[in-house]
Amino acid sequence: EGTVRFEDVRFSYVPEREILKGISFEVPAGRTVAIVGPSGAGKSTISRLLFRFYEPSGGRILIDGQDIAAVQQASLREKIGMVPQDTVLFNDTIGYNIRYGRWEADEEEVAEAARLAQIDTFIRSLPEGYDTPVGERGLKLSGGEKQRVAIARTILKGPPILVLDEATSALDSFTEKEIQDALDRVSRGRTTLVIAHRLSTVVGADEIIVLDKGVIAERGTHDGLLAAG
Ligand code: ADP
Ligand code: ADP
Repeated sequence: EGTVRFEDVRFSYVPEREILKGISFEVPAGRTVAIVGPSGAGKSTISRLLFRFYEPSGGRILIDGQDIAAVQQASLREKIGMVPQDTVLFNDTIGYNIRYGRWEADEEEVAEAARLAQIDTFIRSLPEGYDTPVGERGLKLSGGEKQRVAIARTILKGPPILVLDEATSALDSFTEKEIQDALDRVSRGRTTLVIAHRLSTVVGADEIIVLDKGVIAERGTHDGLLAAG
């Protein structure tokens, strides 16, 4: 369950400027496909179409054989999880932030998600800027720690399909490695579409698609693409 398929997908934000010029690829259930390419190539547009923020002007997008044009956004949200680049934390504990909107999860499930994302030591801490009536101050989280809160939320939600949009691009290389490890654990067994700037962040993908000016310029494995230069 969770196969994603783009069939000859075309898209323009404005008339006479086609951003995606007939894109076809498949992410088989449980596999990871990465889309890389220069800024402006159309990578994020692919994820926006998958979430139905926009409709393709040509071709179609299928999940498990069903055209998503016929699927309600609400039910797409249950199938597809997104780890955002920037996470806004609510004024409560990190544990609450992980659980937010997933109230059916019990404490053990929250703790497990926090462990997988390696944020468990902060679970009772408060984000920075939060002041209790008795004056207790919050904890300043780094960008990477905030992102791990977002990863834990996504794990807890447990959607079969994950979209990671340039999830590690803004982070330094030390944090990048930690985030990469956390994401590897989250994506195991899930259909995962990674949108990335650099080939180096998607070493483990089953297939890498190089997008350039709205067309697929190359596709292959990480090592294959490196060998081809
Ligand atoms: P990437 O993720 O590869 O950097 P995007 O998919 O964000 O590229 O954008 C592809 C192209 O579409 C860019 O030229 C961008 O300027 C243009 N674009 C993105 N969003 C809009 C929009 N809302 N309206 C018009 N053009 C847009
Ligand atoms: P998802 O289920 O897709 O992960 P979120 O957990 O991001 O959704 O958001 C759940 C709901 O909380 C959304 O309807 C959103 O509008 C709402 N929401 C967003 N920000 C806040 C906030 N600061 N306080 C309360 N509710 C919020």
